[in-house]
Amino acid sequence: MELKAAWEKQKAFFSTNQTKPIAYRLQQLKNLKKLILDHEKDIMTALFQDLKKPEIEAYTGEVGYLLHEIDYTLKNLKRWAKGHVLKTPPINMPGKTYIFPEPYGTVLIISPWNYPFQLLLAPLVGSIAAGNCSILKPSEIAPHTSALVASLIPQYFAPEFISVVEGGVAETKELLSFAFDFIFYTGNSTVARVVMEAASKNLTPVALELGGKNPCIVTEKSDLKVTAREIAWGKFFNAGQTCIAPDYLLVPQSIEQKLTDLLVQTIQEFYGEDPQKSKDYGRIINQRHFKRVSELLQDGKVVAGGKTEEKDLYISPTLLTAVASDARIMKEEIFGPVLPIIAYNNLEDALSIIKQYPKPLVVYMFSKDKKEQTQIAQETSSGGICFNATLSYLVGSSLPFGGVGESGMGKYHGQSSFALFSHPKSILRRSFALRPKIAYPPYSIPLSYMKKLLNYILG
Ligand code: NAD
Repeated sequence: MELKAAWEKQKAFFSTNQTKPIAYRLQQLKNLKKLILDHEKDIMTALFQDLKKPEIEAYTGEVGYLLHEIDYTLKNLKRWAKGHVLKTPPINMPGKTYIFPEPYGTVLIISPWNYPFQLLLAPLVGSIAAGNCSILKPSEIAPHTSALVASLIPQYFAPEFISVVEGGVAETKELLSFAFDFIFYTGNSTVARVVMEAASKNLTPVALELGGKNPCIVTEKSDLKVTAREIAWGKFFNAGQTCIAPDYLLVPQSIEQKLTDLLVQTIQEFYGEDPQKSKDYGRIINQRHFKRVSELLQDGKVVAGGKTEEKDLYISPTLLTAVASDARIMKEEIFGPVLPIIAYNNLEDALSIIKQYPKPLVVYMFSKDKKEQTQIAQETSSGGICFNATLSYLVGSSLPFGGVGESGMGKYHGQSSFALFSHPKSILRRSFALRPKIAYPPYSIPLSYMKKLLNYILG
């Protein structure tokens, strides 16, 4: 009842139209920026408590990323909110045809635990920019970040505009039973189905930001040193708990040993002899995931890492070779610091492996060869493709981010966030002039003439 009252309060507030002026939205975005700047230290501490996030990773992957997204939105919102004019067909002249972005109304944002601050508030930036009221449901699996957000939001926002509901399955299910105007969910694809089913009862549109097995193809035509560094960084950042982390590596047999050696060397350069002692290496979120990822270590030959310590939730950066295609590690998203290395003979073989899996969030390829790049782009389907880089694919606000098929639906970041959280209302504004009588019944125009005229008047 309490949750329903919170949502009803937002519905009532939205209907007062107070969230619609651009000045209001800009002010709320500034409030969000202030919240982050005022509490940067608390946020970093909560992220450390939840995931032992290294300072640089917490700043770049969460706090700094969000600040940039807010600044970018502050700079561009007026322009985005104007909408755009379309060509007006002669039948509607004199007149104007245009798209006017309007807020949906009340929005529910449900987020996961791996980037618990950023993945809750980056969608909020878009929701505020579009003029919606929002209820935030942080992940209970990152309890320190969840509690911090729940304590900070009421200090900076009126609850009828933004409020936080902490909790797990029961609370989320209750929220999902209300007729929100838009639902934004980030997490796994099993729960995504629960979300979509609940949304269908109210015909509520959804955005689903999910995961999957992101392949990483290396070819002989790559700079192997840069490749090894990018892959190790992308895989072991946040201890592998990143939705766009390379999941498995596909490497030509001819260079498998060389790339493996370079990866081993890179891991040492990054994290030293004992990564457990490195300040730049994170931990697994909880016992359940520790157990799940530890079990995957048995699915191949460990060529680097393979060390675990349960009480520290530590799993070292690990490389696996000799992985069977039917092993569990090749059946599910790994979401941890374990990288299977799979050798292939030719690009066709690599493509046939990729095609065995549902559409991933991102396909990585390391190759200088434009022909090889084009082939991969044309023959695979994924949320996006990234050539010769890993995590920088996601940063910056210009490239829309999201999945396709099993990896999700709906793109966000930057202008795409504004578009995602807005309904693009189609508007025709006609003058009262030019209403020839022949356009109305009783029809006097011969059909043969109308056939000739129609294409012209529809434009
Ligand atoms: P999680 O367990 O924190 O769940 C996400 C949210 O769903 C939480 O708020 C949780 O309370 C809620 N939830 C869980 N079970 C539910 C149920 N039965 N009914 C209703 N709500 C429920 O996070 P997770 O799912 O383990 O997150 C990891 C997954 O998210 C991975 O697959 C990863 O690839 C994906 N991910 C995707 C992105 C992206 O942007 N595409 C980003 C991060 C993570």
